[in-house]
Amino acid sequence: ERPLPKTLVYEVGMNCQDLGKILHRSPSELVKKLFMLGIMANQNKSLDKDTIELLAASYNINAKEKKHEDLSDIDKIFQKEEKNTKYEEPRAPVVTIMGHVDHGKTTLLDHLRHSHITSGEAGGITQAIGAYQLKHNGKMITFLDTPGHAAFTEMRARGADITDITILVVAADDGVMPQTVEAIDHAKAAKTPIVVAINKIDKEGANPQHVAQQLTQYGLIPEDWGGNTMFVNISAKVGTNVDKLLDMVILQAEVMELKANPKQHAAGSVIEARLDRGQGPVATVLIQQGTMHVGDPIVVGDTYGRVRTMHDEFRHAVKTAKPSTPVEITGLNDVPEAGDRFVVFDDEKSARSVGEKRAEESQMEERKKTNTVTLDNLFDSLKESEKKEVDIIIKADVQGSVEALASSLKKIEVKGVKVNIIHSAVGAISESDVALAEASHAIIIGFNVTPTPSARSQAKNSNVDIRLHRIIYDAINEVKSAMKGKLAPVY
Ligand code: GDP
Repeated sequence: ERPLPKTLVYEVGMNCQDLGKILHRSPSELVKKLFMLGIMANQNKSLDKDTIELLAASYNINAKEKKHEDLSDIDKIFQKEEKNTKYEEPRAPVVTIMGHVDHGKTTLLDHLRHSHITSGEAGGITQAIGAYQLKHNGKMITFLDTPGHAAFTEMRARGADITDITILVVAADDGVMPQTVEAIDHAKAAKTPIVVAINKIDKEGANPQHVAQQLTQYGLIPEDWGGNTMFVNISAKVGTNVDKLLDMVILQAEVMELKANPKQHAAGSVIEARLDRGQGPVATVLIQQGTMHVGDPIVVGDTYGRVRTMHDEFRHAVKTAKPSTPVEITGLNDVPEAGDRFVVFDDEKSARSVGEKRAEESQMEERKKTNTVTLDNLFDSLKESEKKEVDIIIKADVQGSVEALASSLKKIEVKGVKVNIIHSAVGAISESDVALAEASHAIIIGFNVTPTPSARSQAKNSNVDIRLHRIIYDAINEVKSAMKGKLAPVY
């Protein structure tokens, strides 16, 4: 029998098996010992502080609780994982396709899924898992399968900034439309570069020149015209120039020098998740750092578990997954939400305790909304964050009001802090506006418009501040006063 250690260094929640290893005693001996002390336990029962200290005392040794850093803040851990740059290697870009409805986003994604898949799978990907990778000229590209900026911005609102490059699809026979502008603003707010794909050039009446001209108004200027945005004229339906579009994406990615460290614990984000009757919770996750292995203890959002199985987009079982790879995993205790972050832990015990703590916290206060910015807390949040800009979204009944409001707001300057209009448009305040505001910590100002009922309830849930006005002067004054910290309280 090996000697006892001088001190039992323990963690609360350890069981007789864990403690047996440290004490060099069999778990069943510990169970017996506890029994003699009047404590009924089996080998797997988690023990509290008092019990463990009593157990140590019965062996005549000291006990010391191992204090480790607070692991409950998954975002902090995530950032730490992300910052480990020593062993970085190039990784594939993660691409989202955005644009106005019917401009060809789905057609483009389908075309890519069937014609450019990695390993010559017959028939391509049959059952989408939310993302897929393809190989172009020997380089991998990861595509997110849900087109559109709504999904994109909802994920951002939950903390997952996973898109590296946005492909903006604009139909050559229709030109710039309201959702084209929204998509541009959402991509800009996320600071992802845009590659423009002018689509449907096979159609009669297609006028790609005109579309390019329109886009210059939004700061997207082709390289031929002295700008720095890549433009390609494509037909997603026929497949014209789709290869060229992928060339552009690769080129853009090379400029960005995207890197990740595959030699650390995996960390990343949930792309989608569901409850499967046979398999339990199933989540498609995107690995952003590190390598994920089957068996890894993992915390995902407010849930946790151990990666039981991993499948790629072809439904092939895989054992490991590297950065920028999407995989579908099972083994979680609960269904996470799209946009939730995940981090792999050293051991199941810490994963379990962090997961349980997070679940408890989220049950208690549903979801922390400390970082939303409202006009009421604007002054304090400006002071705290040392931000030099107040982000605002403007919706108004007519274009003239949008412009008048935008230009007056932009003139405001309070102690070096200015107003930044991240999106402005004519129309009711929509869910997409609220999601953008939430993701970008922006305030929404409505002029002679109201939110749609769903936008209103979404804003309420996510604490997004919507201010409605009928007089431009009032809107300006309100923002100005809030920036000075002199907003009159609302009763
Ligand atoms: P989404 O709403 O942006 O996803 O648009 P879809 O991909 O559903 O496309 C809308 C319509 O445009 C469909 O009927 C497509 O077949 C058609 N379409 C998409 N791309 C092209 C194209 O390059 N050429 C032509 N002629 N039609 C296209």
